[in-house]
Amino acid sequence: MHKHGFTLVEEREIKELSSRARLWRHDATGAALLSMSNDDENKVFGVSFRTPPHDSTGVAHILEHSVLCGSEKYPVKEPFVELLKGSLQTFLNAFTYPDKTCYPVASTNLADFYNLVDVYLDAAFFPRITPEIFQQEGWHYETAQDGTLTYKGVVFNEMKGVYSSPESILAERSQQALFPDITYGLDSGGNPEHIPDLTYEAFKAFHETYYHPANARFYFWGDDPEDRRLAVLSQLLDRFGPLDVQSEVPLQQTFDTPKRLEVPYAAGADSDRRGMMTVNWLLPETSDAETNFALQMLDHILVGLPASPLRKALIESGLGEDLAGGGLENELRQLYFSTGLKGIDPADEEQISSLIFSVLRGLAEDGVPAASIEAAMNTVEFDLRENNTGRFPVGLAVMTRALTTWLYDGDPFSQLAFEKPVNAIRARVAVGEPVFENLIRRWLLDNTHRATVVLVPAENSDKARAEREKSRLAAVRASLDEQGLEAVRANAEKLRRMQEEPDTPEALSTIPRLGLHDLAAVNTPIPAQESPLDGMRLITHDIDAKGILYVDAGFSLNRIPAGLVPLVPLLGRAMVEMGTSRYDFVEMGMRIACKTGGIDADSVVLTRVDDRTPDARLFVQGKATQANAAALFELMRDVLLDAQLDQKERFRSILLEEKARMEHRLVPAGHMVVMSRLRSHFGKSGWLGEQMDGLAALEYLRELVRRVDEDWNGVLADLTAVRQALVGRAGAVLNMTGSGSTLAAAMPHASSFAASLPEGQDVPPAWFADIRPVHEALCVPSQVNYVGKAADLYSLGYRYHGSANVIFKHLRMAWLWDKVRVQGGAYGAFCAFDRASGVLAQVSYRDPNLEATLDVYDRSAEYLRSLSLTKDELVTSVVGAIGELDAHMLPHDRGMASLARTLTGDTEERRQQMRDEILSTTPEDFVRFADVLAEAARTGTVCVLGGAGVEEAAERNGWAVKSIM
Ligand SMILES: [Zn+2]
Repeated sequence: MHKHGFTLVEEREIKELSSRARLWRHDATGAALLSMSNDDENKVFGVSFRTPPHDSTGVAHILEHSVLCGSEKYPVKEPFVELLKGSLQTFLNAFTYPDKTCYPVASTNLADFYNLVDVYLDAAFFPRITPEIFQQEGWHYETAQDGTLTYKGVVFNEMKGVYSSPESILAERSQQALFPDITYGLDSGGNPEHIPDLTYEAFKAFHETYYHPANARFYFWGDDPEDRRLAVLSQLLDRFGPLDVQSEVPLQQTFDTPKRLEVPYAAGADSDRRGMMTVNWLLPETSDAETNFALQMLDHILVGLPASPLRKALIESGLGEDLAGGGLENELRQLYFSTGLKGIDPADEEQISSLIFSVLRGLAEDGVPAASIEAAMNTVEFDLRENNTGRFPVGLAVMTRALTTWLYDGDPFSQLAFEKPVNAIRARVAVGEPVFENLIRRWLLDNTHRATVVLVPAENSDKARAEREKSRLAAVRASLDEQGLEAVRANAEKLRRMQEEPDTPEALSTIPRLGLHDLAAVNTPIPAQESPLDGMRLITHDIDAKGILYVDAGFSLNRIPAGLVPLVPLLGRAMVEMGTSRYDFVEMGMRIACKTGGIDADSVVLTRVDDRTPDARLFVQGKATQANAAALFELMRDVLLDAQLDQKERFRSILLEEKARMEHRLVPAGHMVVMSRLRSHFGKSGWLGEQMDGLAALEYLRELVRRVDEDWNGVLADLTAVRQALVGRAGAVLNMTGSGSTLAAAMPHASSFAASLPEGQDVPPAWFADIRPVHEALCVPSQVNYVGKAADLYSLGYRYHGSANVIFKHLRMAWLWDKVRVQGGAYGAFCAFDRASGVLAQVSYRDPNLEATLDVYDRSAEYLRSLSLTKDELVTSVVGAIGELDAHMLPHDRGMASLARTLTGDTEERRQQMRDEILSTTPEDFVRFADVLAEAARTGTVCVLGGAGVEEAAERNGWAVKSIM
């Protein structure tokens, strides 16, 4: 078949994805197109290039940023940002992998979708990558007041943030150690020490070499007509001819003997147990589907569950605090497996290593337990069928999976059509073939291509790195005469002017946009039905979910005394992961994995919209196929009523793991830490969130580690008391999501589940909140900062109006983006306004600045006051705000979102009023809002987290200093 200059290469029905898949080749250029047609309204497009870098200057990553900074048809500074401001996109981003660069977009609105496709195609193939763009996104010199030079640039700073996270360093080094001879041995993101080696010429040449249709893989997914896909692409491809692009990723030569690598990294003062290590094995190519799926199952067998033998042995050894390594990595041409421990004494390396090998040897010799195999096969298959991609569009996850083979000219369907290979594995297991034991022997025990990577805390490594940067800059500075220095100054000034120069209205008008008439005037409600069930509130959502039932049982925290609130999330995990009176935690974990898609606990704090009081709950959540609904409820009941809390060692393992996770999150997710801290100053909901998930929670856990040793009986009494206060029908909700028939079939089981719970007592909250706003500086070892400021707008007299959504959308994408990211050099900044509590928090991340960023927040009011918004700009922000309101959600997320609305009194009437107000926002609303922001600036509370300069800034401003690592 020939169409629009394309020839059909292959056509397949992929029943696992309810899709018809067609693989096309463009005759003139050789471009490949994978076109998936199905009934998913969340349409996805992506263009991906094979971009193996030859050094660690971050050229691929800098290019990924730069092509989104203006193109031939769209000559504005940042078309990408224009789309973020005013589109109904459900996904818009770009990714740099070790060997490819992907540009995906998604939308549920057809017109919007093709607007996004058009802008992205023009960006990728015809970008205006000028030397100035390269300097802005990559790196350039700036001069400080005293005449010294510094480096600046968006990617430079982003990667400094990445290199501040020990976990990222470990992951990066683990991969590199296995692939010393090929592109995977480099850092495609860019090592801050190498980024300044990159020249504009090399950067430009990289685009010319790799961003050609002959080296591209195009992808479409969803319910749009295929003919339009081909027509749109053929228009673009007509401008190109064939090209011979050398971008193959070679295979890594096999090691004859294992390797070992020691890496010093910056750690805080308390660094006696802050080492980390992984053992890494090179596995076969991704292209062999059956081996690939079998290795995914083996990954689950070894480390997938708390009860998995390798994970369990490592955690229980007491040699470390939490598992390290990402397990099976399957996004590159060759698979690899990485596992180890965090929070170790590096002197224990040998011991950890031999522990890992003795567990593997045991499994190979004694056999993997049948329950373990069954659990792994069920879990891998459930995940493939459910395809729960969270906020990621399903079609995008499918693209990513297809690329794991397609990128290397393999079969794009080999990871999509999973039934045949998975059934083949099941059949081999059924006839007694030692499938997994053989894999362990061949690829782990007998595999000499492995590398051990140890991260050793070194107090001075950060300083040494900073010294190297300083002396490099000093050498450059010394080579400059007065004239040269002036040139650097002038260049930086020119960049600044370019960044500050607004786009002309003519340029902006090239960006294709939706109008108000394209937006739905009425909210689409989520189906919900409420009825009492044995004293519980039962809420059901009739939503088609591929035969899967989702159950969320939520128990109110009202009866928990304030001092025990931080224990709730830990109790949740303990209930799921400590076994019951009939089954120990290993057996219980296997039963859950065999019968369900998983059971988890999650603490959720909501705020009621009418009186700003919290609705705080511990949810136990599970999912299973309709056929296993009875088993799911039975397991959830066992978890809630029969968990054996009295196992000290098991509890200590969970506790240490939880503490380590929080500590490792501090830097990469510093903005979340700051946000939680700020919100805790303004009301009980924020306070509760901080107690369970913020820095306060971490402090509690650290203290609890000590208490477990000194006063285990006291801890156990607390756990038991919290469980008793939580688990009861009174005040609890049972939320179920699934198709009508799935729900009907589950009802009798839900009913006996409810009946089995104790009655409980519905009481007003027992806890109090000690709320005192305080300006804080939180000190951690880090090369970058997270800068936040917050205020409670309602207490400043503001009353909610839907125009706030539009104004904040505009502030975030216009003001904060320009000032904090583009000009300030931070990786990002956002303002989050919580409509229920009235708290506005402005937070930056991976930010080189402190006071300068706070100053930007404080000048928001001034900016709004002087803003003369054009009609187009206003419509853009309205479209963007509606896009956020109508965010696409997968079935379970819809069920949970609807429940949250019910629990907080966020009625359809209220939500429709909000929509009406958004749609009718005027420029005057923007100006009026300036007064509220001015008050927020004057009275707001500051919280910053970071390393460089934080203490000095605290001294200057009188902020309280807290050292947290
Ligand atoms: Zn980036």
